[in-house]
Amino acid sequence: MLKAVRGTRDLLPPETETWNFVDAAARDVFRAYNFHEIRTPILEDLALFQRSVGEETDIVAKEMFAWEDRGRAASEKGQWLALRPENTAGVVRAYIENKLWDRPGVQKLYYIGPQFRRERPQKGRYRQFYQIGAEIIGPASAGSESPARDAEILEMLATLLDRLGITGWTLQLNSIGCLADRARYNEALRQALASIKDKMDPDCQRRAVTNPLRVFDCKVPEDQPIIEKLPRISEFLDEPCRQHYAQVKEILRSVGVAFEENDRLVRGLDYYTRTAFEFTHGALGAQNAILGGGRYDGLSEALGGPPAPGIGFAIGEDRLVMSLGKSPEDVLRKPDVYIAPLGAGMNKEVARVARELRRKDLVVELGDESFRLKKSFEIASKLGAKYILISGENEFSTGVFALKNLATGEQVQVPRDSLAAAIQR
Ligand code: AMP
Repeated sequence: MLKAVRGTRDLLPPETETWNFVDAAARDVFRAYNFHEIRTPILEDLALFQRSVGEETDIVAKEMFAWEDRGRAASEKGQWLALRPENTAGVVRAYIENKLWDRPGVQKLYYIGPQFRRERPQKGRYRQFYQIGAEIIGPASAGSESPARDAEILEMLATLLDRLGITGWTLQLNSIGCLADRARYNEALRQALASIKDKMDPDCQRRAVTNPLRVFDCKVPEDQPIIEKLPRISEFLDEPCRQHYAQVKEILRSVGVAFEENDRLVRGLDYYTRTAFEFTHGALGAQNAILGGGRYDGLSEALGGPPAPGIGFAIGEDRLVMSLGKSPEDVLRKPDVYIAPLGAGMNKEVARVARELRRKDLVVELGDESFRLKKSFEIASKLGAKYILISGENEFSTGVFALKNLATGEQVQVPRDSLAAAIQR
């Protein structure tokens, strides 16, 4: 039997109702903050991720689904393509390619879609997973660098989680400094690690050399005491960075969004600067980050674009759904009415009634003229329909229908043009 590829899965009804509920809430919240949707391709040039996420990151070094796409002629060189492992790079590429900087103000963009990483599958971790993300990017003259934008994004996320009824989340906040701060900090880490790194797990050792900041992502328990003693980024922030961070925190306090400072939070990707954050949730176990994000002031330039500071986040929708504490039953809209056509020739008649009711925004399920009434009742109650509408030749000739409430058993006679109103009531 053919099966879904390892690390991928089918999302089936009724679970997809929960996903749609989350998507709809996100779109609603984004609208209130004046964000607009962007849809970028799932396929991108591999070089995009090498230059943005970084060649030394686990994502690019180990987890990419990438291949050389065949040229048309045998002699023609192929292009290296990749399934996107995240969406910020694609958004910034699109920002540059479509000259979005020419538009007034900052760009406030959001996306919802699948991402791909060849990670070891486990609870809350898939090879095809879904992210809901948003970015604010634009020229510094439009205010894209302002700490007010960082705070706006964080407050928006708190609003979205509240709106979804997710409680028990923690906002972990840090500033990882400007590029110069990071360079000095990296050097300090490298020195601190030089004498002790041999005691660490081989993977952490490699990080200590290639990209010392990544050492903080080492999860090996034995290495944690070493990591705990390393210098802290908070000691390396220059004055403007410290100020920026202080203002982000000030606005968050002003709007009442609680946060925890965590100066070990460095985030896995190369392009982050200044504000970095994660929202974690206790119910998720080892993979406890629901979402992560931060500033990426140099990313546009790194990709050959104009200076365009930005900040954004990506929510792991798979994990968000897991922490939702809602079952599909809670968000599912069951049929308002099940129409039971009684007898030969009735399908074409009930089709018209169904059309009338559906145009009034009712959820209508249709039976079939070949079903006995008993079977229709069984199906209607299995589906959880509120009403069943019995529709035979007699009803169509008199124009009055028997509408039965399946919960109470109460049955009323309703003229055809009052059906929608009776059901809505
Ligand atoms: P990142 O782009 O790594 O910062 O990821 C942002 C969010 O996406 C994380 O906080 C997770 O919630 C989610 N995420 C990342 N990788 C996976 C994965 N393999 N499976 C499910 N969710 C993921």
